[in-house]
Amino acid sequence: MTKSAMGPAIRERPSPNHGSRGEPPHMRPIDMLVLHYTGMQSAAAALDRLCDAAAQVSAHYVVEEDGTLWRLVPEARRAYHAGVSCWHGESGLNHVSIGIEIVNPGHEWGYRRFPEPQMAAVEALCRDILSRHRIPPYRVVGHSDIAPDRKADPGELFDWPRLARAGIGLWPPPAPGLARRRGRGVGLVSHAAALADLARIGYCVSAAAEQVALAAFQRRFRPERWDGLLDGETCARLAELRMAVEAAQAAEEVRRRTRFS
Ligand SMILES: [Zn+2]
Repeated sequence: MTKSAMGPAIRERPSPNHGSRGEPPHMRPIDMLVLHYTGMQSAAAALDRLCDAAAQVSAHYVVEEDGTLWRLVPEARRAYHAGVSCWHGESGLNHVSIGIEIVNPGHEWGYRRFPEPQMAAVEALCRDILSRHRIPPYRVVGHSDIAPDRKADPGELFDWPRLARAGIGLWPPPAPGLARRRGRGVGLVSHAAALADLARIGYCVSAAAEQVALAAFQRRFRPERWDGLLDGETCARLAELRMAVEAAQAAEEVRRRTRFS
């Protein structure tokens, strides 16, 4: 077991499933963090699969329910965790991202809450990663955000607000100006505005998969109901997230300009 000066204690469990992040000048810096659940019956089964050369899947880290943290792939290498994926119009996101698998049986095997020791470990790991890589808050995502038609992880029970309080990802408070929008029912809301907001936040939405993308958004940002139907509450939440992303992008732009001026 190793413990870096500031980072959490890590156990090594090397996976053979990784590749190059690319060669300069085509190599992009790591600027995305993707959270998953394992969706398998046990932590041991998940670790075995993520280290099985035949499976061709992996992640950089696995966090067990008791908080035990495993490193499978060094961050400098590309792990195979995102699969077919898209965010802000960019697809195939493994080469720019770090992937964390959080042990949970998932919707197939008995989805349950993520225990406190596990959440504390996830939070510490994410903070450590964010201290070493420039990852904007709107690029901290769940697997379901970037592959809404295939994936539901880490799912509606995952405590995103807790991570946001620790400076990891976005969770804007309700905007007072949107109270009236919240009260509207299905059919009284603007589809066009909602779809524009979804795209601005980062979701890749095709006309056929509109409801699927809306459900993914709700699962992440309005976890009380994720039916993919556009009601007033979803519209208000979309607007809040869109504004939060725009504010974070503006801050990022200022930072970039000051750095290169
Ligand atoms: Zn996943």
